[in-house]
Amino acid sequence: MKSLHEFNNFTGNLKEQDYLMPVLFIGHGSPMNGIEDNEFSRRWTDIAKQIPVPAAVLVVSAHWLTNGTHITAMDFPKTIHDFGGFPQELFDVQYPAPGSPKIAAETAKLFTSTPIELSHDWGLDHGAWTIIRHMYPDADVPVLQLSIDYTKPPQYHYELVKEIYALRKKGVLVIGSGNMVHNLRMVDWSMINGGGYDWTLELNEKFKQLIVNKNHQSLIDYKALGKEAQLAIPTPEHYLPLLYSLGLQKEKDEISFFNDKAVGGSLTMTSVKIG
Ligand code: ZN
Repeated sequence: MKSLHEFNNFTGNLKEQDYLMPVLFIGHGSPMNGIEDNEFSRRWTDIAKQIPVPAAVLVVSAHWLTNGTHITAMDFPKTIHDFGGFPQELFDVQYPAPGSPKIAAETAKLFTSTPIELSHDWGLDHGAWTIIRHMYPDADVPVLQLSIDYTKPPQYHYELVKEIYALRKKGVLVIGSGNMVHNLRMVDWSMINGGGYDWTLELNEKFKQLIVNKNHQSLIDYKALGKEAQLAIPTPEHYLPLLYSLGLQKEKDEISFFNDKAVGGSLTMTSVKIG
């Protein structure tokens, strides 16, 4: 059992705030959103202005899958260009936000059910930097990433994140970064600037309704939502970040949606602000 003294040491670098930091789920979509001034990226900029400047941002990105859970713990996370077939301009982007070994260590200690590995070789993948450079263009807020343990079922992720709820009280902005509907094989390029298949639009509405009704169990058990969900979530990595965001929700949190739009037929950019 931990003594009170040890417990107090957990606060480390982060201070208790007199507000509760909201939580975001952001549909990141194409890496090009990282350099485009478009309806999605403008909204990311707006959202950042609506919430307190965070002590740090912790991103759960669809693009960092590991065996076990890792957290980035370096002073200066590198910008990772984890995609192919895009213009050189996108590969040239560097997002020089600092990391925070102290906040990484403090966050790792909050987890009680599983050991967290401090990573010194990841950095910021495009699930993180393409969004955050629009939110904090001066790169003056520390950014960390938490990986997704791909060996675990959806319920595990939803429960795991609850262990770091204290971060919301300490001014850390947690962002789940993925896409609720994400089937790249079925993309219809004629709809790339907007438009969704019937099943995409229906499921988008269903997801929003379940989120508003706080029916998290149905969202965790998404495989039981029928054929649409199987089409929308052929692999779970872009969906699971939503469960991280929802796991941090409290009863009184207000819910709002932004970038509520389908693109390319089989993708949704629909994003959620919690709190
Ligand atoms: Zn992605």
